[in-house]
Amino acid sequence: MAEAEPAGLTTARAELVRYGARLVADRLAVGSAGNLSVRIGETVAITPSGLAYEALRPADICLVGPGTAGAGTRRPSSETPMHLAVYAATGAAAVVHTHSPEVVALSAACTVLPAVHYAITALGGPVAVAPYQRFGSAGLAAAAVRAAGQRSAVILQNHGAVTWGGSLDQAYQRAVLLEWLAQVYRLARCHGEPRILSAAELAEVTAEMARIGYGS
Ligand SMILES: [Zn+2]
Repeated sequence: MAEAEPAGLTTARAELVRYGARLVADRLAVGSAGNLSVRIGETVAITPSGLAYEALRPADICLVGPGTAGAGTRRPSSETPMHLAVYAATGAAAVVHTHSPEVVALSAACTVLPAVHYAITALGGPVAVAPYQRFGSAGLAAAAVRAAGQRSAVILQNHGAVTWGGSLDQAYQRAVLLEWLAQVYRLARCHGEPRILSAAELAEVTAEMARIGYGS
């Protein structure tokens, strides 16, 4: 690890190791699949490619951005272009990419995760499924950002999901919420055609959340 590393980066390395372990424990990814990143100024700290989360140490976290060339020994995640595209398009401070089973199953069969529960307002509304593009490609990064629009989550067809937020914890909680919503939608469909909340009903929820200070 570099000697005079800013405190923010040291904290980010530890946080990425901790949430990487949770990714596996919470069944949002298996093995070394999925990846996490945190932005500190112009630097992005990201999990490495092909390393199982249980073996991940703070020194394995990769740095991407101006002045980071040659730092560390690991290769950054193959989905680094997608993380960078999200940072370029949003004000996010952290990005989480999962291969969680309910979301992947939905991505293979649906074009959108509809508003089956009002909690979807925490993601900005119904979550779009971006058309299939090969993992790690610039096309996938562009498709993800395009499909997300103003939301803080997007589902990737036959692949997984990406969520982001103002902190790694917020981005991670959104990934957990997205997986839960995909499961609820699947369960609801077992009962028949689910009733879906309208844009007006979601707007009412968002207004009430703002009034009582949730999500601020
Ligand atoms: Zn992936």
